[in-house]
Amino acid sequence: MDIKENYNIIKEQLPDGVQLVAVSKTHPVSAIQEVYDLGQKVFGENKVQELMEKYPLLPKDIQWHLIGHLQTNKVKYIAEFIDTIQSVDSEKVLLEISKEAGKHNRKIKVLLQVKIAAEDSKFGFEPLEAKEMFQRSMSGEFPGVEITGLMGMATFTEDKEQVKREFLTLKKVFDELNQLKKLDTLSMGMSDDFPVAIECGANSVRVGSAIFGRRDYSK
Ligand SMILES: *Cc1c(COP(=O)(O)O)cnc(C)c1O
Repeated sequence: MDIKENYNIIKEQLPDGVQLVAVSKTHPVSAIQEVYDLGQKVFGENKVQELMEKYPLLPKDIQWHLIGHLQTNKVKYIAEFIDTIQSVDSEKVLLEISKEAGKHNRKIKVLLQVKIAAEDSKFGFEPLEAKEMFQRSMSGEFPGVEITGLMGMATFTEDKEQVKREFLTLKKVFDELNQLKKLDTLSMGMSDDFPVAIECGANSVRVGSAIFGRRDYSK
């Protein structure tokens, strides 16, 4: 498994204007450094604990994205340095992020995670709830938070048509909110489905195993 080769193959498949978030969860700092040295600056982790262990050991100009479910009691550990929280899925966590960002005199960029998958195990807002949160944010309710876009995960299935339908559902929500106030980011697509996601309008993709290799959870 050659990380450099993988990385170049992924980069070649991304049209101009599509951001790559390199998902480094479970992979060592040395592998992240290797991808950083190829020019990648945006990395995604899904656990606060793991991010906090890696953060001090890596270059300070990395833009860290949190992409996993965030518990309110952990927001304080990342509020000072996190670039974007992609996995915002409740009013409670929005309020907490806003409060903790305020303590550091900053605004934290967030994406609202919207439930689009058929499986109900996935976290996220219903489309209408996401719209409500966005409107409340527009009227000043979460001053430490800047909602810059939406994030979604499709059902884990071989059925590409289903995946496409789910991505298009999110694109529709994105377009609707974008009418209310300009949004930057539509984050959808992972190693197995990012080409479909881009076809459906994603301008940010979260790719892990196709760059770093398979994750070994047994270690
Ligand atoms: C792990 C993860 C990814 C990347 O998955 P790969 O299949 O390894 O590309 C993307 N998004 C989220 C939310 C994840 O947890």
